[in-house]
Amino acid sequence: MSKTLYNRLALIGVGLIGSSIARAAKLQNAVGSIVATARSPETRRRIAELGLADQVVETNAEAVEGADLVIVCIPVGACGAVAAEIGPHLAPGATVSDVGSVKGSVVRDMRPHLPAHVHFVPAHPVAGTEYSGPDAGFAELFVNRWCILTPPDGTDAAATDKLAQFWTLLGANVEAMTPEHHDLVLAVTSHLPHLIAYTIVGTADELQNVTRSEVLKFSAGGFRDFTRIAASDPTMWRDVFLANKDAVLEMLGRFNEDISALTRAIRNGDGATLFEHFARTRAIRKGIVQIGQDSPAPDFGRPHPDLPHTPMPKPYAAEE
Ligand code: NAP
Repeated sequence: MSKTLYNRLALIGVGLIGSSIARAAKLQNAVGSIVATARSPETRRRIAELGLADQVVETNAEAVEGADLVIVCIPVGACGAVAAEIGPHLAPGATVSDVGSVKGSVVRDMRPHLPAHVHFVPAHPVAGTEYSGPDAGFAELFVNRWCILTPPDGTDAAATDKLAQFWTLLGANVEAMTPEHHDLVLAVTSHLPHLIAYTIVGTADELQNVTRSEVLKFSAGGFRDFTRIAASDPTMWRDVFLANKDAVLEMLGRFNEDISALTRAIRNGDGATLFEHFARTRAIRKGIVQIGQDSPAPDFGRPHPDLPHTPMPKPYAAEE
């Protein structure tokens, strides 16, 4: 059994990420006990039913009393208000963290409300699915995924190291960087792809000359892979784009330039440019598989139904 790193973990917000932390922390014996809270009575009830925490409380202030690790697992736009609420109740020496997908805005919004006697170590586990809520989480979510820590200048190194150990125990690889760098990197690796998926799925939905049933029926042509990303939580992603506006606009500008270049190549019948571009992107996919960030299985490892054992009737049988 592994060593308990913190005595009492307070989780504020128990959706996909919060409940996965609860499950993994319990399984790994990373904390002595877990106290949890969520905004709505329904979610609090569900946390208790699922046995995700040792104690479920009604308010954020109650949750953090006596906790030596507090992790705020809510949409980034709500982090500032929650920090203001918990600030006066935090125990001296506690570590306060979060899991938000944007870090600059979280640091800007939370830091002013946190007392000097706590350690603020923002974090972003780069792991997720398109599902939300306490039922959606699972203990293995963070295994072999990255967790990025963005401690502001002057943060106690021992507190940062201990939180890194916590995430390592949950299966993650940990790296530290500045909030600004994080936001730029994630704008291209996560935020822009989500925006593109949301756009494509919306565009297909609005096409007048292709029926909705045809879009769904022939989705295996590529569309369905975008629909998974575009099914992600609307509140979370609204907040991400509002909070990481500058970096996303910077990446969107580059993307628009690149798509204009490909548009020109298609218009001009410039096959060499298209081929060179597609060969480069195929190599990137290979690289992601090689470093273990995705499965090498074809088609994302989707199961393919067996052929029926009885021969399929051939539509052209009469011609044989
Ligand atoms: P989720 O499943 O939708 O859960 C969100 C939780 O936050 C729920 O407990 C919800 O409570 C609570 N909440 C929502 N709005 C709130 C508000 N205004 N004030 C207080 N609590 C509020 O979301 P999630 O996917 O776990 O995401 C949580 C955070 O993790 C976000 O900041 C997101 O950027 C980050 N993140 C997400 C992913 C991902 O793939 N989903 C990956 C990495 C990081 P109720 O249920 O009571 O409404």
